[in-house]
Amino acid sequence: MSVFSHVEFDQHEQVVYGHDAKSGLKAIIAIHNTRLGPALGGCRMYPYADDEQALRDVLRLSRGMTYKSALANLPLGGGKAVIIGDPRKDKSEALFQAMGDFVNSLGGRYITAADSGTGVAEMQTMAERTRHVGGAVSREGFDGRVSTGDPSPATAYGVFIGVQVAVQHRLGRNDLKGLKVAIQGLGQVGFDLARQLKQAGAELWVHDIQEVNVRRAVEQLGAFAVGEQDIYGLDVDVFAPCAMGGIINLQSLEALRAPVIAGAANNQLADAQLAEELQRRGVLYAPDYAINAGGIIDIGYERSGGSTAQLKAHIESIGDTLRLIFQRADREGRTTTSIADSLAHERLAAG
Ligand code: NAD
Repeated sequence: MSVFSHVEFDQHEQVVYGHDAKSGLKAIIAIHNTRLGPALGGCRMYPYADDEQALRDVLRLSRGMTYKSALANLPLGGGKAVIIGDPRKDKSEALFQAMGDFVNSLGGRYITAADSGTGVAEMQTMAERTRHVGGAVSREGFDGRVSTGDPSPATAYGVFIGVQVAVQHRLGRNDLKGLKVAIQGLGQVGFDLARQLKQAGAELWVHDIQEVNVRRAVEQLGAFAVGEQDIYGLDVDVFAPCAMGGIINLQSLEALRAPVIAGAANNQLADAQLAEELQRRGVLYAPDYAINAGGIIDIGYERSGGSTAQLKAHIESIGDTLRLIFQRADREGRTTTSIADSLAHERLAAG
């Protein structure tokens, strides 16, 4: 297995393998680019079938973080870590202490945070061994409430701002009263987004594979529950994917009727070419890595120590970035994803 000739290599600065026999840790840290600052990116734990699958994932994700931070105007680079293991069976204190040592060995070039399969508890364990970890301490959040370190509320707020900008751009509406929104996934981000949309007067249609999450939205927010496949074809204004990636594909595209797609999920487009198809159909797509940057901004501020007012304003600047993307896409006749990529490149080069 070669790294330098790997299809996802894309000029990574550093790729390091970490092993600890005692705890069973097998992990990879990839640092894609540190031009704008130390590489920040989550630590994912997943039962990868083999090392090659883990390498592919870490390279792809770490490159994405370079773009996400650049687009969010953060003084941070892009990196990511993966632990090969099943988060339901293989977690232990020793494993995350060893991971903390591994992160520490890079001397701050890479800063870790929670990702799929890890959470605040694992960040706290790693923080026993390294200070290069985000989201491990409680502090005042962007909204003045105490934050546990979980960046999801900041992500949800950024998506909420993004929905408003997208709706204004595509539908010419200045408020969300009566706006019809379909939300796929009511987890940490999806439910909080639903709550804010409801508060702003929107009507909600929701689906989650966990019945308990659907029930909560129905009971607390008056949302309408719909089936797994029905969520795509609803006659709504906005489709907000907040579950998993790859859900905009040839099949779902045929069903989709919403003129706006704006949600938190990473890698929403199953294939990059689908952006052109969305554009052809007049669907305004808010690029995922632009709209879901609230969490990374939150962790960036935890490290830089900026005030909560500055943090809130920075999350709200996601709206300005999206407005710029939408306007440029119209002017240049290009897709929103291609403009977002160009903008990230420009900010990276200027840095
Ligand atoms: P989460 O695990 O808390 O919630 C995901 C929810 O989606 C769960 O309730 C799950 O049951 C549901 N789900 C899974 N498959 C589904 C399906 N087929 N149909 C409907 N629901 C389904 O995760 P989260 O933290 O809320 O993140 C949601 C998405 O946003 C993920 O794609 C994540 O990568 C992305 N994201 C999250 C953050 C963050 O700060 N948490 C930041 C950036 C991006």
